[in-house]
Amino acid sequence: YDDRDGKIWMDGKMVDWRDANVHILSHAMHYASSVFEGERAYNGKIFKSREHSERLHYSAGELDFLIPYNVDEIEAAKEKVLKEAGLKDAYIRAVAWRGAGPDMGVASSRNAVHLAIAAWEWGAYYGDAKTKGAKLDISKWKRPSPETIPVHAKAAGLYMICTTSKHAAEAKGCSDALFMDYRGYVAEATGANIFFVKDGEVHTPLADCFLNGLTRQTVIGMLKERDIVVHERHIMPEEMEGFQQCFLTGTAAEVTPVGMIGAYTFEVGALTRDIGAAYEALVRS
Ligand code: PMP
Repeated sequence: YDDRDGKIWMDGKMVDWRDANVHILSHAMHYASSVFEGERAYNGKIFKSREHSERLHYSAGELDFLIPYNVDEIEAAKEKVLKEAGLKDAYIRAVAWRGAGPDMGVASSRNAVHLAIAAWEWGAYYGDAKTKGAKLDISKWKRPSPETIPVHAKAAGLYMICTTSKHAAEAKGCSDALFMDYRGYVAEATGANIFFVKDGEVHTPLADCFLNGLTRQTVIGMLKERDIVVHERHIMPEEMEGFQQCFLTGTAAEVTPVGMIGAYTFEVGALTRDIGAAYEALVRS
């Protein structure tokens, strides 16, 4: 994937895709001092672009570093990347990290902070599960307490257990893994938030120890506009028995129905399909 044509924006310059490298002694490589964003452009316009750039800055702040480009500069850089790539529908990845420098220990305040932005085409994140319904495995790992790690940052370190959980899920023929949180409540998938439907009402875990996704917030707004009751609350895993529908939300995942979580099964129902179609219409409007 590194050996291809194209340009990546790195620290203010458009660099050839093949040459967009970082030094092996970058602090981020050793200590996960890296934050990122996943964004999607539709018809040439990035959905919630500014919110993503603001979240990138928030995440960096949680990791105690300052990105040397403000939100307006990041917005301009993303536009440039999209234009250069010639893509109307694209996935955009912005990543900011602590580089190599005088500090090779845990502390890194003297090492420069870098920013890079790339864009590429990325279709349905869960493949044909987008229509058929995804199968999820329950992860053996738990989403940590907000007293353990900055849980609302989109930071590389929080994804270590996402990768291993997703690998374990895929080995069982599932599309993704679902995390419980440190208290045992249902939390989120490895790159998406989760919603359930019961008797026409929607239930979703309170985002008190995981990423409160921009898609999650958008979908809650859309449901409320349609006078659908949304319960943001703690959900026990046993409650999944009584839920009729389930779906995931995320920038990459968009709205993806879930057909199965462990032994629990769900139908790909009208509410899920309608909100998926409405989300698609919104991002393209
Ligand atoms: N949780 C995790 C762990 C994620 O990686 C993502 C994707 N960024 C989400 C939730 C959904 O966030 P968003 O809707 O902002 O993409």
